[in-house]
Amino acid sequence: MNHPLCIAGPCSAESLEQLRATASQLREISFDYFRAGVWKPRTRPGMFEGHGEKALPWLNEIQHEFGYKVATEVASTQHVELALKAGIDAFWIGARSVTNPFTVQEIAESLKGVDIPIFIKNPVNPDLKLWIGAVERIENATSATIHAIHRGFSVYEKLRYRNDPNWQIALDFKIERPDLKLICDPSHMGGSREYLFELSQIAMDLHFDGLHVEVHHEPSVAWTDAEQQVNGIQLQQLLSAIRFKDRNDNTTEQILELRQEIDILDEKVLSILMERMKIAQKIGLIKSSQNSTIYQAKRWVDLKKRNIENANKLGLSEEIVVQLLKLIHQEAIRIQASYAQEGDSNEITAGKFS
Ligand code: PEP
Ligand code: MN
Repeated sequence: MNHPLCIAGPCSAESLEQLRATASQLREISFDYFRAGVWKPRTRPGMFEGHGEKALPWLNEIQHEFGYKVATEVASTQHVELALKAGIDAFWIGARSVTNPFTVQEIAESLKGVDIPIFIKNPVNPDLKLWIGAVERIENATSATIHAIHRGFSVYEKLRYRNDPNWQIALDFKIERPDLKLICDPSHMGGSREYLFELSQIAMDLHFDGLHVEVHHEPSVAWTDAEQQVNGIQLQQLLSAIRFKDRNDNTTEQILELRQEIDILDEKVLSILMERMKIAQKIGLIKSSQNSTIYQAKRWVDLKKRNIENANKLGLSEEIVVQLLKLIHQEAIRIQASYAQEGDSNEITAGKFS
């Protein structure tokens, strides 16, 4: 495959010295943009929110001293104006901004006539249309090259990763917008450097076009996202450990046959699911006639525990089993709740689930 597009650099621009130290660790590595957040979107107040405008000349120093192209996050008209004036080479729009169409529209308007590359992260919530909508708002305003960055979606309960990869959304994005490069950000997705390799490898196996990795010369003292940053040597190790596969479609007969087996199994899974929902319906009927509550926490706790034990015995990932059970359980509750509202006039039919 061609060289994947690579963005590397610290989460935040902390000082000129820190940017220099990090930049010099990247000298031997081939990458496209040196990133550093100047305006940092923090979930709660009272934390380091970036040095703002003051840090822009530091990025200029990096441009001149190292010859790197630099990128930073913009989240408002003012950021765009200041970063353009400073000659920043590329911008990214962060996940929190992409969640809000007003913000994206405002940024889009301030980008009129600008043609530097714009990277658009997925929104924090798993909404493909919102992500594509952000791309459209930017492309309606500029002729800039747009790339997308998949960084995963917020979760209430962290299982393994900081943000749920939900790879399907990224794949659907590629189907809708095959013309755009899609980059994976395993740093924000995993939330920990220990997951960088596995996430990057999955992304490459799924034919992503590049990687966005947070790099700090000394990650343990980073002011933001310390857990997930790596130093230059670790980035080099990561990039050499990843297997970059042939992108040509080498679907063989054997793969086709195996896919058929999967299709058959998927059908079975769906019909078993239907059987399960029918039982949930029967329980709903009984509960509604007894006037008892639908959600019984103890039942859920027991069910989850038993299935996690089974998953472990089978060698299935606990994460996928819990996610699946949650979805199924939620649907069972929905069905039972519809009984509570409609009484026992419901029929047990497949139509109920549509
Ligand atoms: C970032 O890249 O610095 C950042 C804040 O990421 P995200 O918008 O993905 O949370
Ligand atoms: Mn970060």
